[in-house]
Amino acid sequence: MELRLYDTLTREKRVFAPLDRNNVRMYVCGPTVYDFAHIGNARPVIVFDVLFRLLRHLYGADHVTYTRNITDVDDKINDRAARDFPGLPLNEAIRKVTEKTAAQFHADVTALGCLMPTFEPRATDFVLPRADGKADMVTLIERLTARGHAYEANGEVLFDTRSMPDYGELSGRKLEEQKAGARVAVDAHKKNPADFVLWKQSSADEPGWESPWGRGRPGWHIECSAMSAAYLGDVFDIHGGGIDLIFPHHENEIAQSRCAHGTKTMANYWMHNGFLEVEGQKMSKSLGNFVTINEVLADWPGEVARLNMLKTHYRSPIDWTVKGLEESAKMLDDWYRVAADMQGDRPADAVIEALADDLNTPQMIASLHGLRGKAAGNERDRSEFAASLRLFGFLSTSAAAWKDRKQQARGVDTTQIDGLISERTAARARKDFKESDRIRDQLAAMGVVIKDSKDGTTWEVAR
Ligand code: AMP
Ligand code: ZN
Repeated sequence: MELRLYDTLTREKRVFAPLDRNNVRMYVCGPTVYDFAHIGNARPVIVFDVLFRLLRHLYGADHVTYTRNITDVDDKINDRAARDFPGLPLNEAIRKVTEKTAAQFHADVTALGCLMPTFEPRATDFVLPRADGKADMVTLIERLTARGHAYEANGEVLFDTRSMPDYGELSGRKLEEQKAGARVAVDAHKKNPADFVLWKQSSADEPGWESPWGRGRPGWHIECSAMSAAYLGDVFDIHGGGIDLIFPHHENEIAQSRCAHGTKTMANYWMHNGFLEVEGQKMSKSLGNFVTINEVLADWPGEVARLNMLKTHYRSPIDWTVKGLEESAKMLDDWYRVAADMQGDRPADAVIEALADDLNTPQMIASLHGLRGKAAGNERDRSEFAASLRLFGFLSTSAAAWKDRKQQARGVDTTQIDGLISERTAARARKDFKESDRIRDQLAAMGVVIKDSKDGTTWEVAR
């Protein structure tokens, strides 16, 4: 089967041909660990998890290497560490913040059904030359300087964008345009306004490493050039992230990696997910219109959030609404009812074909609906339906556990509710309607709506 992927660099959907079928290599920019991740940050994690699972299916689980970094050096982290742990030495405070946040991130994305990447390097382990000889930031910067692509000015090391004739290809921003459009005064020490920092000095109360340019710390972009080279080589297959990373982050990664290694490309396919939006605006920390993954998981099982994310194609914006989550929850309830008890390891061709067309997840869901329709009367369809769902991170639990988890996620105690309903049934049987009404009101106050029929009493959580 042919896999086709949209490449931001060439602006077209192309047949995917890996450099080495035995080792398909993908790098995705990971979180900066200073605070809870919001549900917008979960979008690239889920989208590239689907691609990781698809690649493992097509090439074999042992033939795909997925690297996603953790950014644990950043001025936002320093500020958070000073605020939260004022009594501790800065290094210790920073470690506390980054370890706690990274553990929270892992718990969040695992609940969203995402596999761990093959490698998850931390930036601070790749600043200085390493005993194992893997690529590191200081060596890359030295090489850029030696090749005439970087210069020192004002205590900083800067990348010289004019030294790279095709700088700007990924974002389509030409150097001339950037100059004309620049609103901020050009930093006097830069040769060109687009030049960016590879290394900067640290004051005594900032984290720093001893380097050929004094005690300092790396710029943001260089860490991904180092860690991708360390685990995937100078040129690899796929590089991913959200569209806000195209410029400047990915543009600058390309410049650093290609100029340091002397290669024509850094990655053969550049993939970018669109924004998750709330009322037409990008969800972001700075706008304050965000919900954390953790908060979403308090109200909904992770699979509901995952399905809700995948209903929209990864390159389109998503409008994140409670209504969408409710619809996704209903869909999953139905799928669990039909397929949770079913074994099977052969996914449906139609599902794989949909995803092989540039991760067309809306088409995948349409195919799943088709299978669901046929599944009732046909064990083979039911088995393919179950296998397809499991392959892409759904149906990870039993039908009974699903029901429990769903109720728990909505903050209700199913055992207590079932107990109250039995008491109410008993009260009604002895015609104590005052008591049965009291129990119904008690349940209503807990957000639980009950329905009586000749087959007994059912309940659901009102929203
Ligand atoms: P940040 O913490 O801002 O560096 O973002 C981490 C990752 O989440 C990057 O790949 C961003 O592109 C992505 N991201 C941030 N906000 C959104 C959003 N609202 N929708 C989709 N992706 C986002
Ligand atoms: Zn990156």
